[in-house]
Amino acid sequence: MKYQPYNNLIERLSRRQLLNAAAILGTAAVAAPIFSRKTLAAPIFMDYPFQLGVASGDPQPNGVVLWTRLAPKHLDGGGMPAINVEVEWEVSPTASFASIAQKGVAIARPELGHSVHAEVTGLEPNREYFYRFRAGNEVTPTARTKTAPAAGANVDRLRYGICGCNNYEAGYFTAYRGMANENFDFIVHTGDYIYEGRDNGNRTPDTSVRRHNGQEIHTVVDYRNRYGLYKSDPDFKAAHASAPWLVTRDDHEVENNYTVVDENDIPPAVFALRKAMAYQAYYENQPFRATAMPKGPAQLLYRRLQFGNLMDISLLDTRQYRSDQPCGDGSKTNCAAINDPNATMLGAEQEKWLFDNLATVRAKWTILSQQVPIFMRENIKAAPEGQFSMDKWDAYTVARSRLMNRLKETQAPNPVALSGDVHLAYASDLKMDYRNPNSETIGVEFTGTSISSAGDGADVSATWETIKGDNPHIKYHSARRGYTAMTATQTEMRGEFKIVDKVTVPNQPIRTDKVVIATAGKPGLQVA
Ligand code: FE
Ligand code: CA
Repeated sequence: MKYQPYNNLIERLSRRQLLNAAAILGTAAVAAPIFSRKTLAAPIFMDYPFQLGVASGDPQPNGVVLWTRLAPKHLDGGGMPAINVEVEWEVSPTASFASIAQKGVAIARPELGHSVHAEVTGLEPNREYFYRFRAGNEVTPTARTKTAPAAGANVDRLRYGICGCNNYEAGYFTAYRGMANENFDFIVHTGDYIYEGRDNGNRTPDTSVRRHNGQEIHTVVDYRNRYGLYKSDPDFKAAHASAPWLVTRDDHEVENNYTVVDENDIPPAVFALRKAMAYQAYYENQPFRATAMPKGPAQLLYRRLQFGNLMDISLLDTRQYRSDQPCGDGSKTNCAAINDPNATMLGAEQEKWLFDNLATVRAKWTILSQQVPIFMRENIKAAPEGQFSMDKWDAYTVARSRLMNRLKETQAPNPVALSGDVHLAYASDLKMDYRNPNSETIGVEFTGTSISSAGDGADVSATWETIKGDNPHIKYHSARRGYTAMTATQTEMRGEFKIVDKVTVPNQPIRTDKVVIATAGKPGLQVA
């Protein structure tokens, strides 16, 4: 079709299209009075409206959330007229759409950046489905998703991916192409889905392989345009189209290492306005249920997803409710405040919710999917009294001990933490006391590296040779980019650390570096 300029969109609708729109309006007014504003059923667009692709998320046994967003000018405010637009969706057991399992119409509203979130129900458990959207004459590519197994159902095996930290400027999203080819049952994103910095951040010399669009982002339109840039990446779109995602947020979706305050000491009341806009754009661009609709500078993201008798996942939010980093953030030596009993990582309400969950896990594996690593990473040679990153659980030691004690007292089956944030891969045992190698191992933790953040990296971090002797609980480490391919069975949790040696060059190969295994009933990791 011929694309029309934005100003003339409504005027240039054909007579037939106007009649269609009127007919829909008339019907809708009777059948569904929710359409209180004019809704366009046969829109025409100034460019292809589905440039950000599609996504699905948060699978339940009977359904999944389907997402898309109309953004013909995805780098320039979206390019949609300020009017509601109908978007049809359909779900089929086959990619041919020979039969339709469910279908419906969602309304893309200007208030929400013309995003749609269709909460599909009535599907079969543990089953692969295909879906697509249509608006006017425009159709999305067909995408794959999968429902969760039925509650309590016997499940032999699930394969899932862990990823996070995809800085657009730092490298290509080759690892997402690898994930797209895995046909995972689901994909967990541990946060840093966008980065908020201006083009070429603070890097001297310029190491960007490609550029951010514009200045540091502050307004809802800025955040939308940044999602527009990231989500138009073809590898990112392919990974979303391959499986349902379980998305959690860390800091850069708003501002580096933020808590109740931001890193530049902006007055909290001012920062709250920025947070509200960042949270809105985050909601608009993710396959979230309505429960994640932000209320100003607050957004309920912690949630529980269950996969039959195999996995019980608590998706945590370690950013939004935490107390401020002690000793002024950064990496600090000898900071007594890391032992502050009043410091919190989850906030009281979320911590209670999690602790209740832990007492009621009936699956083989208890999964804590979160953002910043739990395991201790210390550098005794540099600082006998302790040198820690203030943004991690290492700086919230009393809260961490409460969590470990709760895992022990509930005997939650086979705890597995999934983490990100550090742009380094680790596999670590979770210990009751990290300074005593003989203390009890209570679970394991898989920390994914970044998709691209920090660029090509190296085989190991600059400090690894110095610190590894001080951290015997860390069983695997890499400073390369990539993702983790996880396989859960009734007997083991297997993590394949997938590596892309160069992300500064497109289309590089992906290799398996190491396979790390936790055996059910035997706490602790082995490297295969
Ligand atoms: Fe990051
Ligand atoms: Ca982060």
